[in-house]
Amino acid sequence: MSAAEGLSERLKEIDSQGLTRRRKMLSTPQGVSVILEGRPLLNFCSNDYLGLANHPRVVDALRRGASEFGVGSGASHLVCGHSLPHQELEEALAAFTHRDRALLFSTGYMANLGVIDALVGRAGTIFEDRLNHASLLDGARLSGAKLKRYPHGSVPLLSSGEGQLIVSDGVFSMDGDTADVMGLSAVALKAGALLMIDDAHGLGVLGETGAGLLESLALGQGEVPILMGTLGKAFGTFGAFVAGHKDLIDYLLQRARTAIYTTALPPALAVATMASLTLIQEEGWRREHLRGLIERLRQGATDLHLPLMASRSPIQPFLCGSPLVATALADQLLDRGFLVTAIRPPTVPRGTARLRVTLTAGHTHDQVDALLEALSDGFRALPSSLVEDPRP
Ligand SMILES: *Cc1c(COP(=O)(O)O)cnc(C)c1O
Repeated sequence: MSAAEGLSERLKEIDSQGLTRRRKMLSTPQGVSVILEGRPLLNFCSNDYLGLANHPRVVDALRRGASEFGVGSGASHLVCGHSLPHQELEEALAAFTHRDRALLFSTGYMANLGVIDALVGRAGTIFEDRLNHASLLDGARLSGAKLKRYPHGSVPLLSSGEGQLIVSDGVFSMDGDTADVMGLSAVALKAGALLMIDDAHGLGVLGETGAGLLESLALGQGEVPILMGTLGKAFGTFGAFVAGHKDLIDYLLQRARTAIYTTALPPALAVATMASLTLIQEEGWRREHLRGLIERLRQGATDLHLPLMASRSPIQPFLCGSPLVATALADQLLDRGFLVTAIRPPTVPRGTARLRVTLTAGHTHDQVDALLEALSDGFRALPSSLVEDPRP
């Protein structure tokens, strides 16, 4: 069998399990109303939680940034790609998250790989929640350290020792629930271990000023020394950062390979991100409105006896169990004008395929009600051959 035939066999295997992934092509900007392959749809699967990805002030800032600083950054930060907008953004992000310093990375994936690899060597041990984001698990693999995965939402047992790092999503990306960061912090402090929280889905959304899960828990860099945040979700732009003690940031600048050996973000993106940071801080109504929508969806889903999972965040998954059920429901919703993604293994554990609904500040209560009605019809119309007890 040729190599290509081998791949074609593997593709058939993936397809027979209902696990083929397909990209959907939009011909509009990110937002609540989108056009997907010619069809107007209401979008319920974007991580643009505050509706900033196409905000006029953010778009204007990008334009202004490009006129002043051009498009490409030209080099890595350490060579000559670090410019004034990068510096200003790092300082603003540090102040926003109440940390000494912040360091930009090109993506959240790269930040997680680089930070974990830089901080823990082969002799170390990394403790990770079972449902952590793939990039956090890959960071542990890259470091060569021993990886211990603990049950979702719990706190691992540590004995004191060198080279230990606990890593967790703050808000879990596919479940929408939150880590017990207080518990993790207590255990880490007691064992002299480092703690890293990836707040990709909490930043902008949680906390009085939008500074995320850690702000809502009043945890500073003493309690959570490593905070990772992404800019492609609630910020509506692109990129990521790590914030913490000045020595942490200086060390990462020396040793995080994914920050050193890559081209710096376009400076105009830093200018755009500054504009969205201002909106995040000034327009608290976006968070308020989002909270109202989450309440509405949860109350409605409970009234309709839909299989809603336990989440207070804008990520509201509906458990389907089998990937075939999740895909069938997503297709039905599409027919009724709603864009919701079916999330299947290996992104989530086997038996827990789901529809991952996300709410954004751009949605209205009426749109949430319409989605609930379509979901309810969809779940009721499932052929009985597909319905099984969805709980694993
Ligand atoms: C999206 C996400 C990332 C990756 O961030 P990118 O900037 O998209 O690469 C990392 N961690 C979590 C929890 C995420 O949801």
